[in-house]
Amino acid sequence: MSERNVPNADRRYAAAVPEVPDRPQAPTGRLTDRRGRRLHDLRISVTDRCNFRCTYCMPKAVFGTDYAFLPQASLLTFEEITRLARVFAAHGVEKLRLTGGEPLVRRDVERLIGMLAAVTTPNGVPLDLTLTTNGSLLARKARALREVGLQRVTVSLDALDDKIFRAMNDVDFPVADVLAGIDAAEAAGLQPIKINMVVKRGVNDHEIVPMARHFRGSGRILRFIEFMDVGASNGWRMNDVVPSAEIARRIGEVFPIEPVEPNYQGEVAERWRYLDGQGEVGLISSVTQPFCGGCTRARLSTEGKLFTCLFATAGKDLRALLRGGFDDAQIAAAIGAIWSVRDDRYSELRSAATTGLRKIEMSYIGG
Ligand code: SAM
Ligand code: SF4
Ligand code: SF4
Repeated sequence: MSERNVPNADRRYAAAVPEVPDRPQAPTGRLTDRRGRRLHDLRISVTDRCNFRCTYCMPKAVFGTDYAFLPQASLLTFEEITRLARVFAAHGVEKLRLTGGEPLVRRDVERLIGMLAAVTTPNGVPLDLTLTTNGSLLARKARALREVGLQRVTVSLDALDDKIFRAMNDVDFPVADVLAGIDAAEAAGLQPIKINMVVKRGVNDHEIVPMARHFRGSGRILRFIEFMDVGASNGWRMNDVVPSAEIARRIGEVFPIEPVEPNYQGEVAERWRYLDGQGEVGLISSVTQPFCGGCTRARLSTEGKLFTCLFATAGKDLRALLRGGFDDAQIAAAIGAIWSVRDDRYSELRSAATTGLRKIEMSYIGG
């Protein structure tokens, strides 16, 4: 494609066409990067659009009515996404998470999920297939999503207080509809359900204990996420971050909790259990206790760029290979070459110098 034909939105972030090794070999299984981290999870952003304007993610001042989202022709098709998922599975990826933007606003996303549900590991085991959603469309879609093979969902919910929730999503969306979506997901068998709450000081931190109270004993696992400096538009300041240690202390003052061993090495959320047996909560401390050492995730953007870190400033254009006539072995070899030189550990290095970088928006790269 000549530079002149590349739509504007395509030039938003740098993405070189990856090198394809001369004599590609079929992937032989697991890949490790320069720091010995496996490629295990793939997050796939299926749209850069969203029906919310969460102030910490897609502030209206930037994502206004005139914002140029990606044109349809730029998006990977369902066939292209599935083909890449197969190539990644051959490289040892065992877990797929659909995200965005809001994944449930992509038209016919159920068809894509059905296609991905058929992808297996080289040993014939289906991949772990899940999705992160704002929950607004779940009440309508949960059953269909389960029927096509989705296994679980993570629902983002930042407050139970309707006024605060409406202000945070900034489109006046009522909290009751998200709670109904969570119920529908559970009834459809999309379990266990995880709830993600991004905590921002002075905005929703007084909702920490009410959220804990609401979800304890429900079988739904509430996870508190430190507000992160993703992208370049959310006005992040360290003062807005409520450290996980403080969150644990505030919950513990009301409902005593104790730390629990991780389920597996490299688990992102630190687990804490209620002493009275009412379940557990997770703390995701990407700012105060970075977990880059166990980071096994790659991210595929809506238009097919591969990012090896949430805080990357550039990706690799796999769509150019898909549409450029390369076969699966060549694409696999290119992915292998990208992962083998990966050295990312942004959260560990976070400093005045790194926070000034022109990072990629979360809604584009996929949360
Ligand atoms: N729209 C879906 C949703 O909200 O669940 C999926 C995409 S969203 C980008 C994925 C996750 O990223 C959500 O749980 C959201 O709360 C989280 N997120 C977005 N911006 C964030 C930020 N600046 N810091 C921490 N988490 C953030
Ligand atoms: Fe949309 Fe999710 Fe970002 Fe909120 S966090 S604006 S729901 S993509
Ligand atoms: Fe992984 Fe990058 Fe996050 Fe570190 S900063 S955990 S390398 S995505």
